[in-house]
Amino acid sequence: MKRLLVFLLAAVMAVSTGCSKKLNKISDTSLMLDTIVTVYIYGYESEEKLHDYAGAAFSRAADLEKVMSARDEQSELSYVNAHAADQPVKISDELYALLEKALYYAELTDGAFDPTIGELIKAWGIGTDHERVPSEAELAALSGLRNYKNVILDPAEKTVYFSVPGFSVDLGAIAKGYIGDEMKKTLTDLGVTSALLNLGGNIVTIGENADKDSDWAIGIGDPDEPTSEIAVIHITDKTVVTSGGYQRYFEKDGQIYHHILDPFTGMPADCGLLSTSIITSVSADADALSTAAYVMGHDRALELIESLDGFDIIFIDSSKTISGTYPFSE
Ligand code: AMP
Ligand code: MG
Repeated sequence: MKRLLVFLLAAVMAVSTGCSKKLNKISDTSLMLDTIVTVYIYGYESEEKLHDYAGAAFSRAADLEKVMSARDEQSELSYVNAHAADQPVKISDELYALLEKALYYAELTDGAFDPTIGELIKAWGIGTDHERVPSEAELAALSGLRNYKNVILDPAEKTVYFSVPGFSVDLGAIAKGYIGDEMKKTLTDLGVTSALLNLGGNIVTIGENADKDSDWAIGIGDPDEPTSEIAVIHITDKTVVTSGGYQRYFEKDGQIYHHILDPFTGMPADCGLLSTSIITSVSADADALSTAAYVMGHDRALELIESLDGFDIIFIDSSKTISGTYPFSE
């Protein structure tokens, strides 16, 4: 009888401590990476602790921005761009890892994604106060300067060398993905098991949505009205990254010029698509491939994604038809 009483008491205590565990939900936002970054964390720790975790993730992102930004003249990447054609430059592990990945995706996409189009990006100036349409001659000269094969990495020395002068590297199509992965790592190392990071539309998730005991429902933006969704996908612990001409552009003489450039023509990619979204595990991979897919167009991009393991793609074409490999009906 006494044993039964002890058992019952233990059971009651277990239930009551279980009930007193309250799921806390916090979100913090910061203007960084040229966009708005929001971190949502769900957990049983105090709200204060969860805000501290978010702070650690933002601080990691700010450190990486100082490494990878092509616009910040003080960044490590800017130092590389200024000196790597003279001699090999020793670089941080993070910049090395990202350059290595960028070159991998440049090769995989036959240069549709090409991080050496820095001078072309500067000439267009899209998203800056000096946006303009370069002349045809200028475009021909600038697109001739790009070629990812001219970036030479030395894995033993951890150096980067530009084998010809005259070009610069821009990691704008992949860095946000990489930084999302690193923010996720920071949070996971701190013990976070349920979180969503939104880096200007690049979505990274940790685990399930603990508030709903379910997956995360993520909206794919309507290109005509990006604040509303054209489709919803469901992910757990994965990332979804969208590239779209509607995300950054300017208008000149009635013509729209957007920010995803075809490295071969130097012009905004014109592939009959309004957006491409990649769903996978690593956000840097999703970021590089969503940009590349937008340049490659539906057929070539679909063939590439189908040849890879663990990737899904969603296309929205110019008539707003949704297609790709994502299993919407499941
Ligand atoms: P995303 O929004 O990830 O598709 O990246 C677009 C940004 O990447 C642009 O604002 C440029 O800075 C850069 N970019 C544009 N076109 C390309 C390209 N074909 N390859 C690599 N980077 C690009
Ligand atoms: Mg990208």
